[in-house]
Amino acid sequence: MSETRRAGRHFLQIPGPTNVPDRILRAIDRPTIDHRGPEFRRLALAVLDGLKRVFKTRGPVIVYPSSGTGAWEAALVNTLSPGDRVLMVETGHFATMWKEMAGRLGLEVEFVPGDWRSPVDPERIEAVLGEDRARRIKAVCIVHNETSTGVRSDVAAVRRAIDRTGHPALLVVDTISSLASMDYRHDEWGVDVTVGASQKGLMLPPGLGFNAVSEKALAAHRTARMPRSYWDWSAMLEANARGFFPYTPATNLLYGLAEALAMLEEEGLERVFARHDRLAAATRAAVRAWGLEIVARRPESYSSSLTGVFVPDGVDADRVRAVILERFDVALGAGLGKLAGRAFRIGHLGDLNETWLLGTLAAVEAGLEAAGVQPAGSGLDAAKRALSGAQTEAVAAAA
Ligand SMILES: *Cc1c(COP(=O)(O)O)cnc(C)c1O
Repeated sequence: MSETRRAGRHFLQIPGPTNVPDRILRAIDRPTIDHRGPEFRRLALAVLDGLKRVFKTRGPVIVYPSSGTGAWEAALVNTLSPGDRVLMVETGHFATMWKEMAGRLGLEVEFVPGDWRSPVDPERIEAVLGEDRARRIKAVCIVHNETSTGVRSDVAAVRRAIDRTGHPALLVVDTISSLASMDYRHDEWGVDVTVGASQKGLMLPPGLGFNAVSEKALAAHRTARMPRSYWDWSAMLEANARGFFPYTPATNLLYGLAEALAMLEEEGLERVFARHDRLAAATRAAVRAWGLEIVARRPESYSSSLTGVFVPDGVDADRVRAVILERFDVALGAGLGKLAGRAFRIGHLGDLNETWLLGTLAAVEAGLEAAGVQPAGSGLDAAKRALSGAQTEAVAAAA
């Protein structure tokens, strides 16, 4: 490229991939080793074990050299058979893409419509499963944190809804943009397959996909008849038990994963979640002060990893984003699917702190002004107040 160099750090405030911390970049920057040798074995066993603490499971977590989309496919082809019915919910763009994948794979999808501003409704799940007396639905697939809207669904409540019907369907959950930034509990919430990826809360570059699997999912796997080869859990689990993979793993990303797990353990998952909650609350304070509307309708479903923001009618959200990128070197997430041009998304997940967020919000505020969208008030002031209040509590707690 012939563009002039831009000084300082680029702010990657899209809701994934996220900013990769220097510690992780340095961990990846090492010679690739023999993935069938003893040093690799130690690395693999350590990361496979460490991942269980992040997913909060005692069961296995499978690691693919793939994006999150690959891990979606793995979850479906390992547990289902051609023609099986699956229940999915239209929370937004990612849920819609997963539904389309299920259709292409030959599954029969029942898609509960949604308004792209609301979470999964557990009562609706209960009603649909209750009517399925023939037990034709084999899986309920939901997105924990819908990244296109910034809406979080209550996975435990969906589990309770399924249990009330006594329906045997598997519960399959996409936690790609919530894992390691928002509370997630695979075992406690009774999830059968959890789908994850490396490039969001885990602070890694793109390239790893995850499936955490329950006993029940493994039992379904044994009789599932969808064609599968690359994604086959059996081959993975058998090799993983010995510290190896059935094909070449993303060795250097696994170095990075070991470092990411160490960083999460040093900070402590609870503190990681509290930091995300704090930064999300400050972001929402800013959005309200600007006089803009948050995409998520209800406070109980606000995401702590990103905030979707509507622009006023007649304003092109992509133009606002382009101005913010051009003038301030801050990349924001685009409105996706039905929200294209109507909303932008501020990613506040992964490795960032108060100052970083304030920089981002200052750029958004200045960019709104530069794009001719006069904010109603100073979002930056509102965010500062939100953070200095939270800061006082933190200082008091530390004292
Ligand atoms: C990012 C994301 C995906 C897609 O993952 P890729 O790595 O782009 O394949 C799927 N679901 C959710 C909720 C996401 O945030």
